[in-house]
Amino acid sequence: MAKVKKTASELRRDPVSQEWIVIATGRARKPNSFAQEKRTDWRVSKKDCPFESLQDEHPRLVFFKGKKVEIAPRAGTPANWTTISIPNKYPAFSMGKKLKERNIGPYQVMDGIGFHEVVITKDHERDIPQFSLSKVKELIDLYQERYLDLMNEPLVNYVAIFKNKGPVAGASVAHPHSQIIAVPVTDPDVEQSLKGSLHFWKAHKKCVHCLMIAWDGKEKKRVVFENDCYIALCPFASSVAFEIRIYPKSHFAYFERVDDYQKQCLAEVFLKTFQKLERALNDPDYNYFLHTAPADGKNYDYYHWHFEILPKTGTWGGFELGTGVKISTIEPEKAAEFLRKQ
Ligand code: AMP
Ligand code: ZN
Repeated sequence: MAKVKKTASELRRDPVSQEWIVIATGRARKPNSFAQEKRTDWRVSKKDCPFESLQDEHPRLVFFKGKKVEIAPRAGTPANWTTISIPNKYPAFSMGKKLKERNIGPYQVMDGIGFHEVVITKDHERDIPQFSLSKVKELIDLYQERYLDLMNEPLVNYVAIFKNKGPVAGASVAHPHSQIIAVPVTDPDVEQSLKGSLHFWKAHKKCVHCLMIAWDGKEKKRVVFENDCYIALCPFASSVAFEIRIYPKSHFAYFERVDDYQKQCLAEVFLKTFQKLERALNDPDYNYFLHTAPADGKNYDYYHWHFEILPKTGTWGGFELGTGVKISTIEPEKAAEFLRKQ
């Protein structure tokens, strides 16, 4: 019998976004070839770090060793804190009372109204993989509490929580931190995720994310880590090598409503996932972001909130930019297997 020749690649379709992804099986790289080279030029000493001398920042929320610290509305930064959210000194969006929309010829313009905060953890060197479990839980507690406050601001319809780690991922400060931006409009990426989820929900009376979680949970091939309530996996149609998503195992649309036990579980999956990623890729640059139901008062029960983690394992070239079709140079099954072993 003639031998079936393996094709150079496999096209996989994301069931939510309907995007086609190329998994370059023919020129797939070994999992250990993605490790980032050690950098020496990026870290700055404590004395040059903008997050070491916080004083008059009027923090929005302060935690000290797992407990919320009560602060007066216009108070400066307290001496004792372990995780803090402060207004961004160079905000992309700023507060306003009215949203002014206008047209300039064929162009639509809107004021950049919203809130932009920086979430900082105290230790200059230690980031998530070096945190204790309670420290990760504190970070998640802060995200949730700021989310709940910001979603109730009159003009806010979407709250984005994200982290840029390392210069390749767009970070300008090395001290461990993440950011929160609350804005009047839902971003196009979430919009696409919501649309795809609703389309599937209407057609099949089921959540597409639940279906993927059940399938991947049974197959085990793409699972990185799981516990009672969460699963971390490399998606079947990963758009970059070593992409990871963290999903609640039960169908749930709203991150801001998770209870304390669920946050404890999430902290464990977060910690394990980032420890594995650090070991597997030698402390890589990455972005993570939360995808959750918008805060515009509409019903999004069909959605399934999750975190997406995108390590910077490659650069998009002309094909990706010109066609929108992304090429991943490792099979997600191999990436997950490598991550599980760490
Ligand atoms: P990134 O650019 O992702 O590293 O995030 C760091 C953020 O911190 C940037 O958006 C800066 O605008 C902001 N930033 C830098 N210095 C300060 C400071 N002293 N106080 C508040 N925000 C700052
Ligand atoms: Zn620092």
